[in-house]
Amino acid sequence: MTNSPNARGGRTSPLTPVLTRRWLSPRSWTLRTYEQLEGYVALRRALQVHPDQLIQLVKDAGLRGRGGAGFPTGMKWGFIPQNDGKPHYLVVNADEGEPGTCKDVPLMMADPHSLIEGIVIASYAIRANFAAIYVRGEVLHCVRRLHAAVREAYEAGYLGRNILGSGFDLDVVVHAGAGAYICGEETALLDSLEGKRGQPRLKPPFPATEGLYASPTVVNNVETIASVPYIVLGGSAWFRAMGTEKSPGPKIYSISGHVERPGQYEAPMGTTLRELLELAGGMKGGVPLKFWTPGGSSTPLFTKEHLDVPLDFEGAAAAGSMLGTTAVQVFNETVSVPWAVMKWTEFYKHESCGKCTPCREGTYWLVQILRRMLAGEGTPADVETMLDICDNILGRSFCALGDGATSPITSAIKYFRHEFLELCERNQSAQRQASESALA
Ligand code: NAD
Ligand code: SF4
Repeated sequence: MTNSPNARGGRTSPLTPVLTRRWLSPRSWTLRTYEQLEGYVALRRALQVHPDQLIQLVKDAGLRGRGGAGFPTGMKWGFIPQNDGKPHYLVVNADEGEPGTCKDVPLMMADPHSLIEGIVIASYAIRANFAAIYVRGEVLHCVRRLHAAVREAYEAGYLGRNILGSGFDLDVVVHAGAGAYICGEETALLDSLEGKRGQPRLKPPFPATEGLYASPTVVNNVETIASVPYIVLGGSAWFRAMGTEKSPGPKIYSISGHVERPGQYEAPMGTTLRELLELAGGMKGGVPLKFWTPGGSSTPLFTKEHLDVPLDFEGAAAAGSMLGTTAVQVFNETVSVPWAVMKWTEFYKHESCGKCTPCREGTYWLVQILRRMLAGEGTPADVETMLDICDNILGRSFCALGDGATSPITSAIKYFRHEFLELCERNQSAQRQASESALA
C-alpha cells in the first residue's frame, strides 16, 4: 500500500489510501487518534482563508459528487446565493442504501472525524451555521458512533460557537432516518428531515436555491465531504494527480460477491475491474466471472467483456453503464441472471414510494413477470413485455429510482436474453410434454 499517488506505466498505483489511511489505526474513530494523525489541521488552515477561496479550491481540484451522480462539488457550493438574508444549510447524505454500496458506513465507523472536519470546512465555505447528517437509522452502531464523534468535536471546540477563535459558529445534528431507500434521494431526504413523509420534490428548484425549509442548501454525500480536508491539506494539483482528467481523485470502491476478499478498496478514479479483482484476491475459488455492476444495481450490468473499462464517470458511461456509487457486485458463472434481476426488482418494487404511476405500477408488474418466469410459467413474449414496461418507466418517472429500476432488466436482456428465453422454453416444452401425455 502507498500513501501517495505513484506513477505506474503512465497510470497511477492501484491503491491510494487517502480517505482510508487512518482506518487501520488503533481506535481510529476517536478524536485523540484523529488529532495524532493530522486531524483538524486542514480546518485550522481553512478558517484562515476567505470562504470563496475554499470554493475555488474545490472547483480547481475537480471534486465530483461521490453519491452516484458525479455533480461538480465546487460548482454546487458556488450556487449558494450570498447576502440573500436567508440561513444556509449543509446536509450530509449518509443514507447509503443502493444495493451493494458499503463505503460510507465503513468510513463513518472508522473515521467519523474526517467527515466532521469536512462538514465544518464546507459549512464555512457556503456560510452555513447549521449542518445535519442524515444517516440510515438501521445502522444503529453508526448512528451511535456519529453521536459520540460530534460530542467529542463540540467538547474540543471544533463545533459550536466561535470555532477555534475564528468567529465562525456551527451546530451539527445527527438525524437517523427510518429506513426508506427513497430518503436517499436528496429532496425526499429534505422532506423527511423536515418531519414529513419522505417523497421526492419537483426539481428545479434544486436544493442549492430552495432546500431545507426552502433555504439554500448543499446536499453532499459522506465520501464527498470527507474528501474536502485532504484537498485543503494537499491542494488541488495533488488531488488531480490521481484519477482521470474529468474524474480526478481517489475513490472508495466497495467490492462484494464472488471474490476472495470482499471489502472497501481505495483506488484512483478510472481503475478497472481487472485491477480491482487483483486487489480483492481474484474470483472466489477461481470460478469465472459472469456479470457485475459497476456502481450498484441502478447501474446497467457489465460482463467479462468489460474487465478493462476505466471505472470513472466518463469511462463507465462510454461503455454503456454508469459509475454510480462504485458498488462493484461480482457474480460468477453459477448465478442465474434472471434470478439476480428478480431480487433487485423486488427491492425496487418494495422501495418505490408510490408517488408516480410508471414506477409504482411498472415495478409491480415487472416483479410479477419475473416471478412467473422463475416459476417456469413464462413465455418468450414476456421478455418483450418487460422491455416495453421499462420503456414506459425510463424517463417518465418522477425521480431516479424508477430509471434505476429498469437498468438491471434492460442490461440483463441485452447481454443474457438467452437465459430469459431458456426459462420460457423449458416451460413451453414442459407444457408440450404434458399435453402429449394427456392425449396419449
Ligand atoms: P442528479 O443528477 O439529478 O443531481 C445530482 C446533484 O446535482 C444533486 O445534488 C442536484 O441537486 C445537483 N444539481 C443537478 N443539476 C443542478 C442544477 N442545474 N442546479 C443546481 N444543482 C443541480 O442526480 P440525483 O437524482 O441526485 O442522484 C442520482 C444518483 O444517485 C444515481 O446516479 C445513483 O447512482 C445514485 N444513488 C446513490 C445511492 C446511495 O446509496 N449513495 C442510492 C441510490 C441512488
Ligand atoms: Fe416515487 Fe418511484 Fe416515482 Fe421516484 S420514481 S417518485 S420512487 S414512485
